[in-house]
Amino acid sequence: MTKKRRRKFSKRQKKQLMLEVLILFLATVGAITLLALLGKGVATVISEHRPRKVVSEQPELDVELLSINKYSRPGTVLKEVNAIVIHYTANPGSTAMQNRNYFEGLKDSHETMVSSHFIVGLEGEIVQCIPTAEISYASNDRNNDTIAIECCHMGEDGKFEPATYDSLVQLTAFLLGKFDLTTEDLIRHYDVTGKMCPKYYVDHEDAWEQFKKDVADYIDQHGTVAEDR
Ligand SMILES: [Zn+2]
Repeated sequence: MTKKRRRKFSKRQKKQLMLEVLILFLATVGAITLLALLGKGVATVISEHRPRKVVSEQPELDVELLSINKYSRPGTVLKEVNAIVIHYTANPGSTAMQNRNYFEGLKDSHETMVSSHFIVGLEGEIVQCIPTAEISYASNDRNNDTIAIECCHMGEDGKFEPATYDSLVQLTAFLLGKFDLTTEDLIRHYDVTGKMCPKYYVDHEDAWEQFKKDVADYIDQHGTVAEDR
């Protein structure tokens, strides 16, 4: 009788022990998961607090502002800037000034309503047509919260010349800093309307990603740590 009871008791003990092991196991798994999550959280916080760099040096600009007119420079205040939109002129071989003069001529021709804040030329020159405090007519529904950059190109494929590309990277890096934006805020005209603009970056998604990476690298190399805002 005693023996039997003892055996029974020992069985209960065994059960108890197994339960304890199970609880310990679950607690360990839980703790590891929690630690992993915490670690990830800490990593995110650290990366978010990595000091932001800003390129404060403005690239050389040829400021050739358009006359105020309702076809290319309405003079409307640009209240906020949430993105930079990249375009191509779709006019192979044309220069930045030719494109700027086309925008200016719209005040008389009334042909259409179009413009851009900046035009980057075939030799890397940057012509500014509209102050960044005003809207341009380049990006449809996003005219009211974006800055537009048009780029000249030689070929039908819309690929930018190295000089154009370098100036575009420089200008974009500067503008991102000026408006407190990141490379995540770089978009193509295509991303707004589905239009094949800038053609080369619609046809070559990898080149578009590379462009954003080059801008980020430029900011990293030439930027200085921004003051806390
Ligand atoms: Zn466009």
